Amino acid sequence: MTSHVVGYPRMGPKRELKFALESMWDGKTQAADLEQVAKDLRASIWKQMSEAGVSMIPSNTFSYYDQVLDTTAMVGAVPARYGWTGGEIGHDVYFSMARGNKTKPAMEMTKWFDTNYHYIVPELSGETKFVYSSRKAVSEYKEAKELGVDTVPVLIGPVTYLLLSKGDKSAPKGFNTLSLLDAILPVYKEVITELKEAGASWIQLDEPKLVMDLEASQYEAFKKAYAVLGEVAQVKLLVETYFTDLPAEAYKTLCDLPIAGFGVDLVRGNKTLSLIKEHGLPEGKTLFAGVVDGRNIWANDLAASVAVVEELQAKLGKDNVVVSTSCSLLHSAVDLKNETKLDSELKSWMAFAAQKLLEVVAVAKAVSGQKDEAFFAANASAQESRRNSPRVHNKAVKEAAAALAGSEHRRSTPVSSRLEQQQKYLNLPILPTTTIGSFPQTPELRRVRREVKSKKISEEDYDKAIKAEIDSVVKLQEELDIDVLVHGEPERNDMVEYFGEQLDGFCFSANGWVQSYGSRCVKPPIIFGDVSRPKAMTVYWSTYAQSVTKRPIKGMLTGPVTILNWSFVRNDQPRSETCYQISLAIKDEVEDLEKANITVIQIDEAALREGLPLRKSEHADYLRWAVHGFRITTCGVKDTTQIHTHMCYSNFNDIIHSIIDMDADVITIENSRSDEKLLSVFREGVHYGAGIGPGVYDIHSPRIPPTEEMADRARKMLAVLESKVLWINPDCGLKTRKYAEVVPALTNMVNAAKQLRAELAN
Ligand SMILES: [Zn+2]
Repeated sequence: MTSHVVGYPRMGPKRELKFALESMWDGKTQAADLEQVAKDLRASIWKQMSEAGVSMIPSNTFSYYDQVLDTTAMVGAVPARYGWTGGEIGHDVYFSMARGNKTKPAMEMTKWFDTNYHYIVPELSGETKFVYSSRKAVSEYKEAKELGVDTVPVLIGPVTYLLLSKGDKSAPKGFNTLSLLDAILPVYKEVITELKEAGASWIQLDEPKLVMDLEASQYEAFKKAYAVLGEVAQVKLLVETYFTDLPAEAYKTLCDLPIAGFGVDLVRGNKTLSLIKEHGLPEGKTLFAGVVDGRNIWANDLAASVAVVEELQAKLGKDNVVVSTSCSLLHSAVDLKNETKLDSELKSWMAFAAQKLLEVVAVAKAVSGQKDEAFFAANASAQESRRNSPRVHNKAVKEAAAALAGSEHRRSTPVSSRLEQQQKYLNLPILPTTTIGSFPQTPELRRVRREVKSKKISEEDYDKAIKAEIDSVVKLQEELDIDVLVHGEPERNDMVEYFGEQLDGFCFSANGWVQSYGSRCVKPPIIFGDVSRPKAMTVYWSTYAQSVTKRPIKGMLTGPVTILNWSFVRNDQPRSETCYQISLAIKDEVEDLEKANITVIQIDEAALREGLPLRKSEHADYLRWAVHGFRITTCGVKDTTQIHTHMCYSNFNDIIHSIIDMDADVITIENSRSDEKLLSVFREGVHYGAGIGPGVYDIHSPRIPPTEEMADRARKMLAVLESKVLWINPDCGLKTRKYAEVVPALTNMVNAAKQLRAELAN
């Protein structure tokens, strides 16, 4: 039986591509050095897949930055500002689009569906002329062939590409990028023809947009596109979909397209399987059954996958099913082989991309009667040990989480009267100023944290160094005359990892990196067991900070939904259950901070919005348990304890009622980068009774905003919000900035607040 892999991580097992890219960008190495690293990586990936026995091996899933940007290069859709005048697109133009250059900013970047991978958003207009301008797909196909590997070249499909694009500045409002379909198809046809001539027998076109809620005209675009591409004779087209269930209409569309096969995600969502069983498959089409999870790091339950594939075969015919991954393995970690920190039992429960290749092949072989008994036996015993391990299952935690059902966990006093009681304690001026939490992270701080971990310095020296940093951050804020202070988070490496390291049920890999964008990778914590908090996590530093100032210090916590969304989560229980367990741990921390006389506590939910499911029909359920998870953390505090939350984005007009339902006393939000989009929701009459601090200062840029500019931003807010609820603060934490930028910017921010207070007093 045939095995297939949708795509593979490109960074390399030790992030080789990252270091090669950054070294070239810094001018330390030449383009030729980068190209050699890239070529070696591609060769090793193809060799690995071929040795594993994968029958359909992808090519062109490698990228120097992003596969959507590669497609922009392929079709020559370079925005005019980069001065490209035609010909094959080289590194200069490519990296200018990705990262900007001395004179031109980069193109916009956004999240790839509901993953933490980001792509470069194509900018199109009615004037865009598509020209075949990057032969990367063909050259990678040939490169593999020279190494003796016949691959399946992978392209982003034309309809998904256009739907992911946006109208550029010249495009009229409401410009429909799909209107360019006729114009882009000839380039795709040219590429497919050239790939066929180079010897490719299958070509994979990724069309993940098919899993989304689409309109009739969008389904029509798929029919039109594949009617044209299907005209290229003697090559089989595979349309790949992933990330959730297919809507029935999409399934029907795929069945009708003149293509040889299509791929479905059978891991995330459980409705596609019923669609297949109900409707079957038209004669001559092949189903690529994505049974190995590309979004996680858990070992596949091989026996369960074999059962699914056998069921499909019985329904569709033996030769019409191919075993595949649920999506590209880009979203998993690379290779478990390099893990030195995880013990052997934990490792036996896991599979990174390299191990997932073996799983795909093992399932395919087993279905064709060549079952690797030893491999299956080892897998079954690992599954069994994970199901029963006391490291995974904690009865007390499960009981506490189960006891949450049926309660709303709301604070009993309404927010307006809580705010009045808090003000009696806090005695803050009108338009109070604060920051979001972190202060600049200096190399010195990173050194101190590294050295205490490796025991190069003693705990006492570490303690002294962190306290000295807190002293100076608190003193600075007092000098700046900020009203609600923070301790600056010098002890924290990362807002999720810091908590994960102190909670039971989490583990950390040494090399489990996943590409986030360009050369940037993240190493998500792994939640493997029931979550509990052995002891207080932040009380020590927060109380120290409070001991050196009379002004209120904000206790700083990461919220349960954000911890959940930025980790690799368990696949043996619903996400909501894991979220509730984390909520209970954070609730204990909140109450310990309160007992220690910290009366302002911020619980960040930076990632609440990004956890929204892809399909609208699933939003309400997610928001219900996510918002409930947040309320669990705060429902036990006194009315006089002020709960803040923070969100790093402003496009929440569609979820504003869920945000209100979180019932925080004060919310701080990104606002300055997005043209005050946020304020439109209040203009439209939504009433927000709690305190609110839309950011007046964009911390993502080194630019120092002048006082008048920040005052102006706040004046716009005052036009739609009452002065007694408005806070003045930056957009986000300051850890990526330098003190040389932060000090003058915060000085201007406080001056802006004082200027407005004077205006309001008149
Ligand atoms: Zn933020």
